[in-house]
Amino acid sequence: MVFLLDGYYQRYDLKGWARQRYEGMKVKPDACQECGECEEKCPYSLPIRRMLKEAAGRLG
Ligand code: SF4
Repeated sequence: MVFLLDGYYQRYDLKGWARQRYEGMKVKPDACQECGECEEKCPYSLPIRRMLKEAAGRLG
């Protein structure tokens, strides 16, 4: 959901909308435990932890 909203934030002119939806999320990227499991499983080797932090910086 964070990346979906970040896509709306960055690619479309929906910054306020994306921030509002982000604000309503019960669990946000600061809940990340930095375990790295998502990155181990990601077939595209995306730096998910870093991406989450960057998206949180825009949306939060
Ligand atoms: S590193 Fe990935 S799998 Fe681990 S807590 Fe954070 S988001 Fe979840």
